[in-house]
Amino acid sequence: MERKATRKVNVGSLTIGGKSPIVLQSMNNTDTRDVKATLEQICRLHEVGCDLTRVAILNMEAALALKEIMKESPLPVVADIHFDYRLALESIRSGASKIRINPGNIGDASRVQEIANACKERGIPIRVGVNSGSVGKDMIAKYGGVNASSLSESVLQSVRILENLHFDNIVVSIKSSDPLLTIQSYRMLSERIDYPLHVGVTEAGTKGEGIIRSAVGIGTLLAEGIGDTIRVSLTDDPVEEIRAGLRILRSLSLRNGGMRLVSCPTCGRTLVPLIPLAKRVEDAIADLPYDMTVAVMGCAVNGPGEAREADIGIAGGIDEFLLFKHGESIRKIKSENVFEELMNEIHLLGKQQIK
Ligand code: SF4
Repeated sequence: MERKATRKVNVGSLTIGGKSPIVLQSMNNTDTRDVKATLEQICRLHEVGCDLTRVAILNMEAALALKEIMKESPLPVVADIHFDYRLALESIRSGASKIRINPGNIGDASRVQEIANACKERGIPIRVGVNSGSVGKDMIAKYGGVNASSLSESVLQSVRILENLHFDNIVVSIKSSDPLLTIQSYRMLSERIDYPLHVGVTEAGTKGEGIIRSAVGIGTLLAEGIGDTIRVSLTDDPVEEIRAGLRILRSLSLRNGGMRLVSCPTCGRTLVPLIPLAKRVEDAIADLPYDMTVAVMGCAVNGPGEAREADIGIAGGIDEFLLFKHGESIRKIKSENVFEELMNEIHLLGKQQIK
């Protein structure tokens, strides 16, 4: 797919935009003042494939704690600030990799100018964004409600505030909890600016609903070449956001490697308890460090053939499974041993990959 060319923005060791690999991000839900808990969560996010994380800076203690976090963090960290420009300045001094502000709620231009100057001095970008809950009343009146026009015009106001201060190291977001409105808004914005875009469906919900809404919104835009960094917002452990984001990126071949599960929907031919087994395998392989497709299929008649692209798999029979690799039958395994033996085979193959 052809990705829209955007400007390059450096965030710590990462590059966002300019056709660089899509950056996958999340946001900590720890109290930023609690350095230990925040760092532990950052390390867990890093282990499952997160590229960039964000922390909320609610007060001066949090801005100061960021200094300790930055010393140990394996990931670049974005400082998220509302209202108080002094928190932004302290976070910049603490070594934040990027600042997320809404220039409209920071106060008069001299305060935004101070933040822009401090960011410029250290080469730190600023993300500006609106979501459907923060569109200005003037924009709602002018464009007849919260829609793609009022959302994109609102965020462009923030962009212009920074541009007027001669600051252009910018990432832009424009989120809604409605996937369709999100898609329309980013399409419109992408036509009008070439700053890198942070794409997400905000307040998407809990894991079941939220992943679907995010996959529709983020996935549609990425398939059109729009988006340079993504965040899946879930009411859950942030680690789940990264797992979901990786699945979206892998579905569109925007991220290679990792584990993929292929499993059949089951039908009248299925004579083994396939559904709980597939779920168990999915959980067990989720964070393995290999690049592999694993198939869990209901029958030996169609299973190996339907999962031809799988590196390794099992197909159900009566009280037993057939183990297959790359579509070739290898051996039969008793039902009661199938999970353990399949996992052993996955590890054997995986260790050969990373030798
Ligand atoms: Fe049915 Fe076999 Fe296809 Fe699974 S693989 S859906 S059991 S035919």
